[in-house]
Amino acid sequence: MRLRNVKGAREAMVESTLVFDEPKEWKGRWHEVFENDHPIHIEIGMGKGRFIVEMAQTHPEINYIGIEKYSSVLIRALEKREGLELPNLYFIRMDAEEINEVFTENEVDQIYLNFSDPWPKDRHAKRRLTSTQFLARYDALLVPEGHLEFKTDNVGLFDFSLESVQEAGWELLYETRDLHHSPYMEGNVMTEYEAKFSGMGNPICKLAAMRHHSEGKEL
Ligand code: SAM
Repeated sequence: MRLRNVKGAREAMVESTLVFDEPKEWKGRWHEVFENDHPIHIEIGMGKGRFIVEMAQTHPEINYIGIEKYSSVLIRALEKREGLELPNLYFIRMDAEEINEVFTENEVDQIYLNFSDPWPKDRHAKRRLTSTQFLARYDALLVPEGHLEFKTDNVGLFDFSLESVQEAGWELLYETRDLHHSPYMEGNVMTEYEAKFSGMGNPICKLAAMRHHSEGKEL
């Protein structure tokens, strides 16, 4: 993503009651923020927030937290959120590498990763949000049958992610290399990047995985 220094973005974050700038203080207490026990779903690397704002509007029975590293991008999500009656949506400005300092075990029900940065060089593989290193972090904060959903138009990153999920021992629930012409399209909410790349004719890949092993279970 191209980064511009959006004037005043950092200051707007600090002032907003919708953005957590010191999220570690809330570890283990996120349900208190929402004042209910509804499931918590997070999007890591939410960018300008189109997906998570629409998800929060569509599913008032679920609590959403959008996580983004850069204030200059997060401010666009904040602008979308402001003025809407959405008590089920907050934002955190942080690097996902610190995610286990922000959420405790069993605190999150579902993780969304949409069009995550590909980090194409091999030596940067562990920075990819679907690496086994990141899956181990997710393992430590998801509920036992917590889900991960990942969308991308980057076939190389998708192949890598499928391998990671399997290497980490997660259960692959489904995969498609053409989401928009698949049965998994039902209920799909587009992200900013998805609208852009599918508009250019790129097929969208999606996988869903669950951290809990179903081995030995009767299906
Ligand atoms: N999910 C959005 C979409 O699909 O339109 C944005 C996709 S954009 C390619 C990736 C976003 O992830 C960027 O906004 C970037 O700043 C953010 N990001 C990348 N690595 C991150 C990390 N380690 N922690 C938090 N955010 C991250």
